[in-house]
Amino acid sequence: MERIRNYIRGAWVDSQSGETFPSINPAYTEETIGIVSKSGREDVDAAVQAAREAYQGWRLTPAPRRGEILFRVAELLFRNKESLARLETREMGKILPEALGDVQEGVDMGFYMAGEGRRLAGETVPSELPDKDMKSVRVPVGVFGLITPWNFPIAIPAWKIFPALICGNTVVFKPSSETSVCAAKFVELFEQAGLPKGVLNLVHGPGGDVGEYLVSHPGVNAISFTGSLDVGKRLGQICGSIQRPIDTEMGGKNIIIVMDDADLDLAIEGAIWGGFGTSGQRCTAASRIGVHKKVYDTFVDKFQTAASRLRLGDGLRKETDVGPVVNESQFNKVLRYIGVGKEEGAKLILGGKARQEGDTSKGYFIEPTIFTEVVPKMRIAQEEIFGPVVSVIRTNDLSEAIRIANGTPYGLSAAIYTRDVNTSAVAERDLEFGIVYVNAATIGAEIHLPFGGVKHSGYGRKEAGGRGGALDTYSHVKVIYRDFSGRLQKAQIDKETS
Ligand code: NAP
Repeated sequence: MERIRNYIRGAWVDSQSGETFPSINPAYTEETIGIVSKSGREDVDAAVQAAREAYQGWRLTPAPRRGEILFRVAELLFRNKESLARLETREMGKILPEALGDVQEGVDMGFYMAGEGRRLAGETVPSELPDKDMKSVRVPVGVFGLITPWNFPIAIPAWKIFPALICGNTVVFKPSSETSVCAAKFVELFEQAGLPKGVLNLVHGPGGDVGEYLVSHPGVNAISFTGSLDVGKRLGQICGSIQRPIDTEMGGKNIIIVMDDADLDLAIEGAIWGGFGTSGQRCTAASRIGVHKKVYDTFVDKFQTAASRLRLGDGLRKETDVGPVVNESQFNKVLRYIGVGKEEGAKLILGGKARQEGDTSKGYFIEPTIFTEVVPKMRIAQEEIFGPVVSVIRTNDLSEAIRIANGTPYGLSAAIYTRDVNTSAVAERDLEFGIVYVNAATIGAEIHLPFGGVKHSGYGRKEAGGRGGALDTYSHVKVIYRDFSGRLQKAQIDKETS
C-alpha cells in the first residue's frame, strides 16, 4: 500500500507523530487508495518555516523564470492526465470523463499562469507634477496557506497554487483529507519540474486541527480557502481577529430557470448535467430548477424520463453516468435531506434512496433523486445538499423566478433557458449570483475569467481569471512615486498647501 507523506522543504517526510489515516475508494469501501501521514501542529510549523525561508529567493526569482517552471508542471500534468484522472475517480468517485476534465482544468490553469509570468502588469500613469513618474507594481503577499475541498482534487489546488507561485508567494497546501493521494501526486509534479525546495509545501491531516492551526499561524501572511460555509465562516472569524487576509469560496444553492419559450430538450440536458454531474457534488450543482407553469408538466415528465436512464456505478466503468458520493458522512447527510424533503411535503418522483446491491453494494451510492412541487421556503430549496438531489419549483413569470433564485443565502451560479434576448438581459442584470449562464447549465466555467460567488457563497477576491481574479488574490499592488528632478518635495508641499 502506497504511503503518502508530507512534502516539506523539498523532502517527502512522515508526520512527526508517525500517525496515519487511510484514503478510501467510495465506490468500493474495501479498497484503500493510500495510507496518509496524519500531521500535527509541529508538521505545520515545519512547513511554514520552510515556506518562510524559501520566500526571499522565490520572490526575487524573475517572474518569467517562475513561469518556465510552472509551464513544465503544466506539461507534466498533461502527460499524466489519464493516470491522475483514474486515481481521482478511485479516490473520490467522480466518473472518469469528469475526472479527465478536472485534470485538464489544472493543465489549462498551469499554462495560463505560466504566461502571466511575462505580464503581471501594473499601471504607469502620468503625474500631476513635472519630473515625477508614478506606477503600481504587483508584489507577492508572502506565505500563503491554501486549503482545498475534495470535489475537484486537481483543478481547485491548481487554481490556487499556480497563481500563488507565479506572483512570487510561497505556499503551505492543506488538501482535503479525502483526496490526499491526488494532492501528493500533483505536488510531485512541481518537484519533477524543478521547483526550488520550500516554495511549495504539503501537509496532510484533519482540517479542524492542522487546517485551523495553519490559518492562525503567525508565520502565514494570507489564506485562500475553498470549502463549506460553516468552515469558511469560522476561518473568517479567526482571520478577522488577527487581521489576516482570507479569500473564501463556499457553497451554493444554484438554480436553472426554465422559461416558457425555452428549448426544452436543451434545458433537460442542462438540468441532468447540472443536477447530477459529479453526483451533485459541485459547488455549482443545479439543485433547484424553476420551471415556468406553462411548460412545467412537460418539463417534469421529460426530466424524470431522462434522469431515470442515468446509470449509477463505479466511475471507472464506461457505462456509468453517476458515481458514488464521497464518504459515509456525505452519504448519510444526503439521505437525511431526502427524508426532510418528504417530511416537508415535496413530491418524490424519482430515486430517494441508497442503492446498495450488486456492483453498488460496497459503496456510497444514492439514486438520482427528483422532488417536484417544491416551494421556495422548504429546506431542500434553501440549503446546500451536495448530492444527487434536484428540487423542481413551479414559477409564474420571470420576476417571480428571479425572486426565487435570489431568495437563498447563497449566490454562486444561476442559469436561464430562454429564446428571448430581453428576458435574458433582465436575468443577467438581476440575478444576484457571481456567475450567470444563458442557455447552458450552471457549470462550465473557464479558467481565464474570475470564478466565485456573492453573499454566503464567498467573500474576498475571486479564483481563476487574471486581473479581477487570481492575480488580485495572490498579489498586492504597491504604488511607487519617483522624483527625478530633486524638486518633487517642494512641489508637493506647494500643491498640498495651496
Ligand atoms: P469542508 O468540510 O469545508 O472542507 C474543506 C477543506 O477545509 C478541507 O481541506 C478540510 O480538511 C478543511 N477544513 C475542515 N475544517 C477546517 C477547519 N476548522 N479549519 C481549517 N480547515 C478545515 O468542505 P468539503 O466537504 O471538503 O467540500 C465541500 C464544500 O466545498 C461544499 O460546501 C462546496 O459547495 C464547497 N465548494 C465550493 C467551491 C467554490 O468555488 N465556491 C468549490 C468547490 C467546493 P479535511 O478534509 O481534513 O476536513
